[in-house]
Amino acid sequence: MARVYNFSAGPAVLPEEVLKEAAEEMLDYQGCGMSVMEMSHRSKMFSDIIETAEADLRELMNIPDNYKVLFLQGGASQQFSAIPMNLMKNKVADFVVTGQWAKKAYQEASRYGKANIVASSEDKTFSYIPDCSDLPISEDADYVYVCYNNTIYGTKFWEKPDTKGKILVADMSSCILSEPVNVEDFGVIYFGVQKNVGPAGVVVCIIREDLITDDVLPGTPTMLKWKTQADADSLYNTPPCYGIYICGKVFKWLKKQGGLEAMKKRNEEKAKLLYDFLDESALFKGTVEKKDRSLMNVPFVTGDKDLDAKFVAEAKEAGFENLKGHRTVGGMRASIYNAMPKEGVEKLVAFMKKFEEENK
Ligand SMILES: *Cc1c(COP(=O)(O)O)cnc(C)c1O
Repeated sequence: MARVYNFSAGPAVLPEEVLKEAAEEMLDYQGCGMSVMEMSHRSKMFSDIIETAEADLRELMNIPDNYKVLFLQGGASQQFSAIPMNLMKNKVADFVVTGQWAKKAYQEASRYGKANIVASSEDKTFSYIPDCSDLPISEDADYVYVCYNNTIYGTKFWEKPDTKGKILVADMSSCILSEPVNVEDFGVIYFGVQKNVGPAGVVVCIIREDLITDDVLPGTPTMLKWKTQADADSLYNTPPCYGIYICGKVFKWLKKQGGLEAMKKRNEEKAKLLYDFLDESALFKGTVEKKDRSLMNVPFVTGDKDLDAKFVAEAKEAGFENLKGHRTVGGMRASIYNAMPKEGVEKLVAFMKKFEEENK
């Protein structure tokens, strides 16, 4: 068996320990003679799986009791519609557009009410986070929306935007569980799990209870109404059982690693290796303003398309997969999520140094 170093932005690398455990339990989960894929979502066994997953996530993130945790389907993109449907009482929402995902959420919300762009970094290909200390927040805004870590562009909010008292909604798909966050600063935190937690097909929503009501936009589908899902403890219909089971294992793994403070320290060390090299390299350079750099997604270029392509091809040969940048940015992108070992980043940097020597 040969595992590669997988720098994919998502679906992305998972802890090897978790995959091995899941393999061992594939045919017979804890002596029940079935796979988790084959068992009823109403069984005691599955109740234990989803309840334990929620309890571990609550412990890891220190989620207050007045927040609900929902395990849903439809990915992060489904919430681009669900959020306005559940929250747009005045039909007004303000958006900070820092990349393609925030833009898509903004476009979707525009279908349901007045969506305003209160700040944007599109003028410089989303290579920075705009100043959010004094935004022109709308008087009657139902919420302010941000994408906390911009997977494609490699930027991250390092300061909470000042929403002037309005509810803050954050897409944390690509930075969730990479460091501690103060959940109380947010009305809604949500994440598609396939970046930093588990297999695609699960989206987790952490929602302050008072925001979960029957007062939704007319025509909201039953399944997209958060209250339907909250009242049924995420079991209104068959949930993505196997995905939730893997997420639960990753939560346990994170607890074993020492929790989110420990992950933050490791992620900072890993990112520093790569950024320090990019800052001193004569060939490669990062594409993002230093103060806004993500710890999870690191885009970089040589400045020469052909050389970029040569690098990606040779890296693949050497066992470093999925380093090609997003089609809208070009160049390369190394996603170094929680499950990427430090050794993977060290080896990538060594490979980049060698490539630089050979291509001067
Ligand atoms: C990948 C990603 C999405 C889209 O997730 P889907 O589950 O494919 O809908 C949304 N937001 C961010 C920040 C992402 O990285």
